[in-house]
Parts: sequence; C-alpha cells; structure tokens
Amino acid sequence: MYKISEELRSRTVELAGIESRDTGKPFSLALAMDIPRAIDNFSFFAGAILHDSTESHFSGGGVFGSDENTGALHYTQRRPIGVAGLIVPWNLPLYLLSWKVAPALALGNTVVIKPSELTPHTAVELAKACVRAGLPPGVLNIVHGSGRYAGSALVAHEDVPLISFTGGTMTGKIVAATAAPLFKKVSLEMGGKNATVVFADSDLDKAAATAVRAAFTNQGQVCLCGSRLLVQDVIFDAFMDKFVALAKKLVPADPYLGYSTSAAPVASLTASGVAGPASHAPLSFGALISAAHREKVESYAEKARAEGGVFRLGGARPSPDSLPEAFRDGFFYQPTVVTGLSPTSAVSVEEIFGPFVVAHPFSTEKEALELANGTRYGLAGAVFTNDLKRAHRFAQRWETGMVWVNTWLLRDLRTPFGGVKDSGVGFEGGKYSFDFWSHVKNICVKL
Ligand code: NAD
Repeated sequence: MYKISEELRSRTVELAGIESRDTGKPFSLALAMDIPRAIDNFSFFAGAILHDSTESHFSGGGVFGSDENTGALHYTQRRPIGVAGLIVPWNLPLYLLSWKVAPALALGNTVVIKPSELTPHTAVELAKACVRAGLPPGVLNIVHGSGRYAGSALVAHEDVPLISFTGGTMTGKIVAATAAPLFKKVSLEMGGKNATVVFADSDLDKAAATAVRAAFTNQGQVCLCGSRLLVQDVIFDAFMDKFVALAKKLVPADPYLGYSTSAAPVASLTASGVAGPASHAPLSFGALISAAHREKVESYAEKARAEGGVFRLGGARPSPDSLPEAFRDGFFYQPTVVTGLSPTSAVSVEEIFGPFVVAHPFSTEKEALELANGTRYGLAGAVFTNDLKRAHRFAQRWETGMVWVNTWLLRDLRTPFGGVKDSGVGFEGGKYSFDFWSHVKNICVKL
C-alpha cells in the first residue's frame, strides 16, 4: 500500500490533470486536494493497520472462581469479510474511491469497484498504480458501467457480502433495499444540505471567507458543502455584503488553467495522516459535471424565482462571451446566492449539489438550531462564533454527523466520517473503518 501511494505521488500532476478533464473541476483544486488526499488515504491506512490491536479476555479460574485451572482465555480477531463492492460518485472520483479501497485492502479484503460512469478515468489509473506496485491479480477489480446495470448487479451479487456506497440518498435507498434481504454489511454515505451558521460575535471577515469556500468549492459539488447560510439578523445585511463580494470573485473559467507538468509540488499531509484544511488552495471555479446536472440546478433557480427569492448573485449561466472559445459549450453556472425564501421551501431544504446558496436570517440561538436541524439531512455543518460555551452547546445539539467550529473541511483521517438521518448509515475513518471493513471472531480456549 505504501508502494501504491508512492506510485500515485509520482504522477500527481498528471492525475490532477486527468481528474480536471474528467470532472470539469479546476486543475488547481485537483492538485491541492483530490490527488494529495488519494495518496494519503493509502499511506494513512498502510500505517494505521500496523497500530491496530484486538482484545483478549481472561475469564473464570483465577479471576472469578476459586480454581485456577478452570479459566478460559478469549481472544478476538479481525477477519476480512471477502469480496467488497465499492460504488462511488463523480464529484471526488479518486479521493472517495481511495477512501474505500485503502482500508478495504488493509483489512485483507478484495474489491470490485464500480466508478461513476461519468468519471471513470482515475479508477483506471489507480489500477495501473496497483499493478506497478505489485498487488496480486484479482485483488482489485473494476467494473465500468451505469449504476442501473453494473451498480445494481454488484449490490445484488450473492458473492459480495459487503457494499460501501457513496452517492445520492435516492440511490442509497435502492442499494439498502437490495442489500437488506441478502444480509450484507452496508455503509451508505449519502446526500447533504449542510448549514453554515454565523453568529454576530464571530470574526465576520474570516467567517465570510470560509463560508464562501464551504459554499463553492468544486462548484458546490462536495457533499460537505455549506449550501444553507444561516446568519444572525443583526449582522445579516453586513455579512451578506461581504459574502457576495467574495463570491463575485469566483468567475467560471477554463478548468485546466495552470496545468503544467512542472506545476508546484502539492502540499502533502503529515506522516501521521493528519489532513489539514484545503484553505491554502486558491478558490477557482470550473464547470458542473453534466448538462443534466446543470438543468437540475437551473430548475431550483426557477423554483426560487417563482417563490419570490431575491438573487443577490448569479442565477444564470455565464455569458458565452465571458468564456474562452473552446469552453463555450461547457456546463458552467454562475455562483448563485438567494435570499428572501422561506426556510421550509424546497430550495431551502432539498439537496441541489451545485453552486447555489440560500441564506436565511435568525434571531436567537434556539432559532438557529431549529433551522440547522430543519432538513431530512444530517451530514455536516459549520458554526462561527467566538463564544466557546455556545460553540460546544450548539455542536452537541446539532443533528449531524460532523460539526466544524470556526472552520470547514478540516479533516483528520483518524476521526469518524459519516452522516445521520437521510445522509448516511455507518461511519468510516480510522478505527471506524477497521470495524466496517472486517468482522470480528472470538476464540475461547479452555485452560
Ligand atoms: P448517484 O447516487 O447518482 O450515483 C452514485 C453511484 O451509484 C454511481 O457510481 C452510480 O453509477 C451508482 N448507482 C446509480 N444507481 C445505482 C443502483 N441502482 N444500484 C447501484 N449503484 C447505482 O450519485 P452521484 O450523482 O454520482 O453523486 C452525487 C451525490 O453523492 C450527492 O447526493 C452527494 O451528496 C453524494 N455524495 C455523498 C458523499 C458522502 O460522503 N456522504 C460524498 C460525495 C457525494
């Protein structure tokens, strides 16, 4: 696995270019975030598995009874589960794929991967890296194809006892329904409608810069993006001015801009696998994944207009003249910020998964919490405040898998990643990945 990690590292710039071409995301983002994270997923789990330990228990005899010779030693082993089925989406293709492949292999499983049909390229490059690193044939397998055929066949296959799925909540429901009667072990990482909550006592400039990054990284196509902005009423207007002014700087452009085989070396993670925030990365703006996805985003803009939403920014495709000629048919959409909608409107509570932010004012902490908890989703959220007691209190009461205080997307690979409510079933990361990608067996030896 260290060799796989090094194989990927040796091709970082090329892989970032491939990811950019396949997805329409900025090359600079793939170089700063997607590929370094894929490299570190392998090196992190390669190291982490060396530090795993399992339990042993001594019972009876000298411990609980009077006769030393009647005791028993129990020891618990982790066992591989077998063939793992991995299904991944298009937004962070190699990043999310490696987040599953690395722990699956570390725990001794073999994998069958179904990449997104929209972004298959870096999965192939990963397979090449595995061959060069000497992974035995048959350990890592890829089946390309649509979800409807290749994906569902994998989920239904009786020789695949584990499914790890990342994708939309509607697809997750289908995966869960197919896997349940086959008693498969299942992890579902699904959609989100995450809030960024800004209290008046926060550092507004820093909060605005982070909220923009949370809203628009990867054109808003990250499951963790903060697409609902909840701002305390006394600072609402001032904060929205700052937020919109920063978001205005995100101009759709050639995603491949800056590509060069001698691009600056990527920031890497520490040897302990602790991931820093991608805040060093300049926020540039690419294209959406497909024509169909842009139409989905546009349909929400129409709904927002019909409901009297005020477009503070965007709400349309960029004018073709503003794009280089070669990109005029690209699936670009402007960063969009809407106010004036009801917090219960479909636009405010449904996942759009694009560069589309809806902002609402709140007056009290209680109201902010009700709004933050007011969707079917519960993946992640960020709260900005300088009141430490409030930060803890708010984080405790938030029905979500992950909370960031005064930051966003600061990940540590040892910590649990996952969602609650319609956002997910099960957590992965660090020892949580060990638990998911193995089953335990207890062996009892009569002494
Ligand atoms: P999607 O659900 O359409 O597809 C995800 C994967 O599932 C693809 O590989 C697809 O081919 C496959 N698939 C589709 N139908 C299937 C079926 N019936 N059986 C088996 N597999 C099937 O999602 P998408 O549009 O590719 O990705 C966007 C979604 O992913 C968003 O909702 C986003 O929030 C979510 N996402 C979640 C996380 C997370 O960690 N929670 C991370 C990234 C993306």
